[in-house]
Amino acid sequence: MLYGYAGHTLRIDLSTGAVEKEPLKQEWVDEFIGGRGFTAKILYDETPPGVDPLGPDNRFVIAMGPLSGLFLPAAGKTHFAAKSPATGGYGDSNMGGHFGVTMKYAGYDVTILTGQAKDPSYIFIDNDTVEIRPASHLWGKGSTEVEEILKTDLGQEFQILTIGEAGERMVNFACISHDFGRQAGRTGIGAVLGSKNIKAIAVRGTQDIPVFDPKGLLKKGKATYAACREKPGFTGWTPEGTAGITNWCNDVGALPTRNFATSHCDYADKINGKAILDELKITDKGCFSCPIPCGKYGLAKTGKGNKYVEGPEYETLALVGSNCELSDIHGVAHVNWVCDELGLDTCSAGAVVAFALECYEKGLISKQDMGMDVKWGDLDSIVFLLEKIAKREGIGDVLADGVQKAAEKIGGGSSKFAIHVKGLEWTGYESRNAPGMMLGYMTADVGAHHSRCWVLGSDVANAVGGSQDANVHDLISQGADFETIPKADHKNVVPLVLKSQHLRPAFDILGTCRLQYMEIGLETHYYEELYYHATGKKLDFNKDLLHLSEKIWHLNRMFNRREIPDFGRKYDYPPPRFYEEPIPSGPNKGHKVEFAVIEEMLDAYYAARGWDENGIPTKDTLEKFNLAVE
Ligand code: SF4
Repeated sequence: MLYGYAGHTLRIDLSTGAVEKEPLKQEWVDEFIGGRGFTAKILYDETPPGVDPLGPDNRFVIAMGPLSGLFLPAAGKTHFAAKSPATGGYGDSNMGGHFGVTMKYAGYDVTILTGQAKDPSYIFIDNDTVEIRPASHLWGKGSTEVEEILKTDLGQEFQILTIGEAGERMVNFACISHDFGRQAGRTGIGAVLGSKNIKAIAVRGTQDIPVFDPKGLLKKGKATYAACREKPGFTGWTPEGTAGITNWCNDVGALPTRNFATSHCDYADKINGKAILDELKITDKGCFSCPIPCGKYGLAKTGKGNKYVEGPEYETLALVGSNCELSDIHGVAHVNWVCDELGLDTCSAGAVVAFALECYEKGLISKQDMGMDVKWGDLDSIVFLLEKIAKREGIGDVLADGVQKAAEKIGGGSSKFAIHVKGLEWTGYESRNAPGMMLGYMTADVGAHHSRCWVLGSDVANAVGGSQDANVHDLISQGADFETIPKADHKNVVPLVLKSQHLRPAFDILGTCRLQYMEIGLETHYYEELYYHATGKKLDFNKDLLHLSEKIWHLNRMFNRREIPDFGRKYDYPPPRFYEEPIPSGPNKGHKVEFAVIEEMLDAYYAARGWDENGIPTKDTLEKFNLAVE
């Protein structure tokens, strides 16, 4: 008996309509455990080399972990993966809510979509009944409207994921939406679903998941909830959620502002967590079984009407707010709603709009080509651009491919301020004086994404307090001066980056949210014990799980090497703005990262990983991790 798993893989060939339910491969369970482990293994093994990301042969994989769907804190994460249209390499994104949990109750740990439906369709899953149904009536509709229609038609107990118009038109930063405000936003995963002509997936699941020790799991699950409630972060972090970090980021000069031209603004108080609580919030909203609901569901009121929206999260506040100079919380929330309805990742959307605004300001895009006299901080301009992008109209068709490809078309030196790595737009942490954070962004397998590594606190503590182990929150409470921040030392950041890069996949593998560990300090022994009661197997978090995380890093690097023709070191460089332009204002004024430092950090990082000087895993490294790939 395979405890902790539903026990099946669902394969759907959308070209032929063939549906197969097969036993979950023991090899996957033994070697890769679940979630992100499964997606890395499946994409490498099953994606035909050189496949077109938006062609029928790309795989779209949905995977849960062994803890997903069980009654323990925040066990509701779903992992999606495909070869990314944004980067051409390994792409994934993960989402909370209730979708993956329900897929597991329907009997499936893994779902693999191949092929391409002939006409707009949605996938209907009701336990063993799996059908590809027509969806012409849903095509062109917004995400929440589709959820409402399908829930009304099928039943409220169905969990729905959907793409918006951006996914239908294969915008490179199209997301997947679910649960009226949760998204799998990054790497263009929604475009892959759109390329397959799939508008939505609706699932109902009513089956049990066998667990090794139900009584022990229930007892430990309850104890884990109790442990969460006792953490200071339970009452300290939850009220504002991720938005609570906005002022801190501004204070330490890490808040992307005006297309990352600078890292500090004078209106952070207007777009922070408190502003959300004071102006927008109606209720907290959480994912399946979460004790610390970070979602803030509220009402955005602007001249464009009143819109119910979940968010904005910190990343949206940073990328849509300060990065586009939008200083009104209702305006940011409205843009959040527009992105959700159109099915656009708010991180990349904010970065792309800011890039477009700078191109316009510099005269690289004419008013005629732009279609409007767009301005920084102007809600009308931002919404105008997002709608053009989602419909791929005019300049929107150029921007819809993301900043890297757009800069290649626009020219005029715009590549210097196209803020991305590997084609994926940089997220909410300006890092010119945060060398560890910068290295994390540079080396992430999916491109510039903070979810792969977050060491900003250590970077700042290192700069102002002299110790990379110092807790920056302690330094603030001790009265540390952030008016000017000294140059951070880039030496010895590699161990911190590796530690963070290995910790984060651990939760994606198990199928839980990481924020209980990261934000409120839930100890790792809880995960070991829950895993034991669920599966009957011992798991040493630091030894076994982090080893698997490391293995996934090597495997995904090899996927990128195989799929991107000239892949290597140059794909790890940050955008020129960060090493050519000193920060013009704020506490990090005058700082930039020297190119020699970038090279030095990469040398040290590659050596520590067991990769050659071009950033490719050596034969010895692959053998050490039992990876038979080339
Ligand atoms: S902390 Fe937030 S993202 Fe994580 S499970 Fe809870 S509500 Fe979802």
